[in-house]
Amino acid sequence: MAKRDYYEVLGVAREASEDDLKKAYRKLAMQFHPDRNQGDAKAEGKFKEVSEAYEVLKDAEKRAAYDRYGHAAFEGGSGGGGGSPFGGAGFEDIFEEMFGRFGGRGGRQTSGRGADLRQEVQITLEEAFAGTKKTIRVPSSVQCEACTGSGAEGGSASVTTCGTCRGSGKVRAQQGFFLIERTCPTCSGTGKIIKNPCKVCNGAGRVQRDRTLNVTIPPGVEDGNRIRLTGEGEAGLRGAPAGDLYVDIGVKTHPIFQREGPNIMVRVPLRMTQAALGASVEVPSIDGGRSAVKIPAGTQTGDNFRLRGKGFSVLRNSARGDMYVQVVVETPQNLTPRQREILESFEVEAEKGDTSSPESEGFFAKVKEFWNGVGR
Ligand SMILES: [Zn+2]
Ligand SMILES: [Zn+2]
Repeated sequence: MAKRDYYEVLGVAREASEDDLKKAYRKLAMQFHPDRNQGDAKAEGKFKEVSEAYEVLKDAEKRAAYDRYGHAAFEGGSGGGGGSPFGGAGFEDIFEEMFGRFGGRGGRQTSGRGADLRQEVQITLEEAFAGTKKTIRVPSSVQCEACTGSGAEGGSASVTTCGTCRGSGKVRAQQGFFLIERTCPTCSGTGKIIKNPCKVCNGAGRVQRDRTLNVTIPPGVEDGNRIRLTGEGEAGLRGAPAGDLYVDIGVKTHPIFQREGPNIMVRVPLRMTQAALGASVEVPSIDGGRSAVKIPAGTQTGDNFRLRGKGFSVLRNSARGDMYVQVVVETPQNLTPRQREILESFEVEAEKGDTSSPESEGFFAKVKEFWNGVGR
């Protein structure tokens, strides 16, 4: 999409004074501010556009560069700033500078924010089915109690605003006509300087401590699912917001059941006589119950029987998948003399060709065709 002219965006003439620009921006920014247009993507887009235009035009040097080169003056070379020459961080900051913060927003301070943490939790397939609660220990840092997170001895009394960045946490430097924004080296981006650092946390405002957390794992989770616990990550530097905690779910393989999405597979061995004569077998289900499955006479290895609604739970849904019982016909070993005798007479009968063996018939028909084909 082509970028609109900054003057056009603000609705001012090219020779507009600094005051005119400020008035125009103030009016439009108030109108399109995200806090007044919650969930309105169009208004948010307008707000960003207006803020970006003002950010450039309010600065005499940038305005001169823009007048001369247009948008090209700020394109490329700024290092992944998402298309904005200010690394994407600029517009809210300038807005807050002008109007103060809107209530309830809590400030969108990005510097010093605590790191996101990742923790893995292993659960069984039964737990994934029914949902579960897990207590996890997170090696983390928490807000220092001695200084209530300020990092200053005896509270926030000895905290002063950083003189290098005047509290913004960022410094800007001109390189050619690119304006580069960096984290302030004096205060590491916090915007504050501490004269008497807290002795407990050495001024960081946070201390290392393991935390225990209870995590609710909903029914139907799958191996590799991730749960985000907002604000449960590492504490922020000197009162900055905490990071988030990501809990990665690992589901252990089950000795009986195999999950396939909402369905469950279970392989059930069957004696060859049961398969031939038909039988009723009892199979376990994931909810701990048992179900009887009728096996008809003449069942083959690999035949599937479906049990509706006996499958897995589905995430955020009360429905359940199905269970598939797959039959494996087993050949007996270590026959007793009596069993051997019976099977030998069975074989004599089978040789007479009265029984139906679908696999063999198909196979031997193909073998006959093959021999005919090669002229044997
Ligand atoms: Zn600073
Ligand atoms: Zn402290």
